Amino acid sequence: MQDDPIYLDHNGTTPVDERVLQAALPYLAEHFGNPSTKSVYGQRARAGLDRARAQLSEFLSCEPGELVFTSGATESNNWVLQGVTAAHAGPDKPHLVVSQIEHPSVGKTADFLERSGRAEVSRVGVGPSGRVDPESVRRALRPNTVLVSIMHSNNEVGTLQPIQAIAEAVAGKALLHTDAAQSAGKVRLDLTGVDFLSLAGHKMYAPKGVGALYIRRGRSLEPLLFGAGHEGGRRSGTEPVALAVALGEAAALCRPEEGQKLGRLRDRLESGLKSALGANVQLNGHPTERLPNTLNLSFLHTTGAELTARCPELAASTGPACHDGVVRLSHVLQAMGVEPEVGKGAVRLTLGRSTTEDEVDRALAALVAGYRALVDRPAVR
Ligand code: PLP
Repeated sequence: MQDDPIYLDHNGTTPVDERVLQAALPYLAEHFGNPSTKSVYGQRARAGLDRARAQLSEFLSCEPGELVFTSGATESNNWVLQGVTAAHAGPDKPHLVVSQIEHPSVGKTADFLERSGRAEVSRVGVGPSGRVDPESVRRALRPNTVLVSIMHSNNEVGTLQPIQAIAEAVAGKALLHTDAAQSAGKVRLDLTGVDFLSLAGHKMYAPKGVGALYIRRGRSLEPLLFGAGHEGGRRSGTEPVALAVALGEAAALCRPEEGQKLGRLRDRLESGLKSALGANVQLNGHPTERLPNTLNLSFLHTTGAELTARCPELAASTGPACHDGVVRLSHVLQAMGVEPEVGKGAVRLTLGRSTTEDEVDRALAALVAGYRALVDRPAVR
């Protein structure tokens, strides 16, 4: 809408692409059948589901049978950690390796498995730019390690992980899962050496409530949801056909050029802020190995919440939460070793498909004016 704030929170969620909506609507209306039934109604729904799976398999360069629709990346992540742990048959307790900056749908599932005595867990740290060192993964492996789960890219700071080097470190010793919820559609996904990969519809212009899990052929995974045996017995529950159709269409619309365009606009915003505010802004995340749409900056001498409150022209996200005047940094910034005085000023600006140069320039002007109104300091260089 005309006067709505500029939307710079695409890592939070993306709007549904109009083409995705149009593809899905018939499956909410005339093609309402249950895809497990033999009637023409059911078969039309089944055809929609099959097409969506084919689109997704083309997007990931895998077989359609290696994909299962889920309710989102939270379910996909829970499923992999719990399903691999449950499938472990050996006499010793299974061991999992995760990073300290995983999304809570991985981190808290690992905590739960450890707390309930079902698994041992190692949590590898990250460097100051949020990268996991493949050597630290290699060192964490034990004879009873069953799964390594390292996110493809981080939702807060955008840092991309060296998944191929991690896959080489893990090869033949454990299964590898990567949560690619934030990467899909922004950077190329390579399944080499990857056994499981999670996707979230609402981060790639499909609706909320749908996602997928890639399961490499031959990998065993206990179901999380038992029931009437949908999705080849792997994930029970009548398939949400319209949502799956939406995800398939969203995947078919992803283009590598989009990442390049986003990168150019993000760099324009980043360099504009740096040249206006100098050393009063500090990057959180990797300078180059980063999602092209993501800019997480700390604005020094203020808090992210104060700054965004000063900039009603834009919708962005602030990581740290402030309770009773005490700022608690996110687990991601903490793991990166960001000082509280710096981390409290973090603002995450994430661009998307519809972001324009004009919006970037207006957001830049709003942030600079908002910062100067809050912090009366000349740019320090
Ligand atoms: N993993 C990452 C990296 C995310 O950013 C998110 C959502 O913010 C999720 C998982 C959870 O995805 P969903 O909302 O589809 O459950």
